[in-house]
Amino acid sequence: MVPLNEITTHKDFLGVPGAISISLGLPIVVILLYLLGNPDYVMDGFCIDFCKVSEVCKKHFVEEFHSTFANSTCWKIYLAWFGGLVCLDLVLPGKLLKGVVLRDGTQLNYHINGLPMCGLLASILVARWLQTNGSMPELQFLYNNILNFSIVTIEFSFLLATACYLFSFTPLRRQNGVNTRSRILAVGGNTKNPIFDWFIGRELNPRIGSWDIKLFCELRPGMLLWLLINLSCLHQQYLKEGKIFDSLLLVNFLQMFYILDGVLNEEGLLTMMDIATDGFGFMLAFGDLTLVPFTYSLQARYLVLKPVHLGLFNVVLICILAFTGYYIFHSANTQKSKFRQGLLSSMKSIETASGSKLLVDGWWRRSQHINYLGDWLIAWSWCLPTGFSSALPYYYVIYFGVLLVHRQTRDEDKCRRKYGKYWTMYQKEVPYKIIPYVY
Ligand code: NDP
Repeated sequence: MVPLNEITTHKDFLGVPGAISISLGLPIVVILLYLLGNPDYVMDGFCIDFCKVSEVCKKHFVEEFHSTFANSTCWKIYLAWFGGLVCLDLVLPGKLLKGVVLRDGTQLNYHINGLPMCGLLASILVARWLQTNGSMPELQFLYNNILNFSIVTIEFSFLLATACYLFSFTPLRRQNGVNTRSRILAVGGNTKNPIFDWFIGRELNPRIGSWDIKLFCELRPGMLLWLLINLSCLHQQYLKEGKIFDSLLLVNFLQMFYILDGVLNEEGLLTMMDIATDGFGFMLAFGDLTLVPFTYSLQARYLVLKPVHLGLFNVVLICILAFTGYYIFHSANTQKSKFRQGLLSSMKSIETASGSKLLVDGWWRRSQHINYLGDWLIAWSWCLPTGFSSALPYYYVIYFGVLLVHRQTRDEDKCRRKYGKYWTMYQKEVPYKIIPYVY
């Protein structure tokens, strides 16, 4: 009989050296991006003014070392934010949905309540806006403490990943003193090397009772903080310039649309690689809690420091690009999801020995991940409103392009292992990976 948790032999991300480099390197990237775009210095063109960067470095990391790395006010606020969202996640009404079938044949229940959560957050923001006559000191505090909060979330992600790693060794549930089930470990996270397993995530679905840590982190504290940072930028520009430029309004609108789309359609996440396959370790914790809010908001932060007037024509062009991306992203994901639910049985597909069918029709005949192309076009629509004076805000399209290509190779490895010769047949039918006729 195949054991429930087989030892992982293949290590993604170049194994332990990759795990250490990413765990140390990505937090440095987050801090570096701040140093290249902050109220004291904004990177111009492709050139970095190292004197200015070292001045900002000196200010924060030498003169204000303690308040930057051990900022107790930001720590308390972040804990209140995270804890408050956990409480709301538990008490707000919603529907219960089943996740994918796990290796032990069971399915987990997920509490889906993105709509009441967003409704409540929007009501609190409006109420505070009215109560403070638009001065919103919380948003100003957030804007003025971006670096401190980003460091708090790096530290928090480290602690959360460590706690999840340690808890993955404890028995799952005890009934009358008897362990009833084993923890299901991630296929890629059971190498027995503590550094690698801590980084990639050892347990597949770490939970406290029925509260799912991974789904919560994917959609709540980071995504909603990104929304708040963007709003704090709008607010800051209004305070600074006495008006809001069309470029910042557009970035806010497009990113808010993306965030709400993710949070309100959270059931779509249940079948995604992050929830269905990956464990929850430092990689996901850091990605969800730090990388998303503090680097995805870079365009909005840049536009506060370097306002851009786009004009109606450019706004319309960028909106066309964004909604073309959305159309591809959404219709492709929906098509696959409906097909997998057995609703599009007339579409051409390949039957595999595992029982799952691979769609080779509609969007899914154009490339193996046509949905990634849609997502990448959306990424461009967030960067273009910043104009062309600095390469800094274009960090996102480059980072996201690399992430999607790497994700595609990881998914291909998984599918090759799962489908064997049927995957080779599939690749003959659908040769392009992401961009039809290009890659
Ligand atoms: P996909 O939605 O492409 O799902 C891949 C899985 O779908 C495969 O592992 C396989 O799973 C199944 N599959 C693959 N090909 C077919 C086919 N032809 N027919 C039927 N099933 C197939 O990838 P992701 O989960 O990575 O991404 C989902 C969405 O999330 C994408 O739109 C992506 O752009 C977005 N995303 C956004 C990020 C962000 O930061 N903004 C980050 C990552 C993703 P099975 O084992 O079931 O066969």
